[in-house]
Amino acid sequence: MTKATLTTQELREYRGRLMSLVARLDAGLSELRNEALRPVGAEAAGGPPDASVHDADRGSRAADEELALGLLGPAEVILAEANAALKRIEGGTFGRCEDCGKPITRTRLDALPYARRCIRCARGTEAAGAL
Ligand SMILES: [Zn+2]
Repeated sequence: MTKATLTTQELREYRGRLMSLVARLDAGLSELRNEALRPVGAEAAGGPPDASVHDADRGSRAADEELALGLLGPAEVILAEANAALKRIEGGTFGRCEDCGKPITRTRLDALPYARRCIRCARGTEAAGAL
């Protein structure tokens, strides 16, 4: 009963989709990070040079960064899930529910290629934001 229910061709398709998802998220995230970590105009210009800048306005900068990086949450979660799904493809467990071990339907995988659980098991947890 360890036989994969997805064909090699199907797995290849999902892997392709996951990899382009990862690539897009990676690009988007580094753009967001650059944006988030960019020095804040007035403060950066008026502050002391180089090394001491970091310590000098660490307080306000840290708060700004936290705020901006907070927005990355969902994308980072999806990126982690997509990477985990790629590992499952490598390991041969992709497409199987982590909870009950039954195959996840094609319809669900098409909508959510990084789904960890079948619709039946996910229904209870999805409302809380779990995949
Ligand atoms: Zn299940």
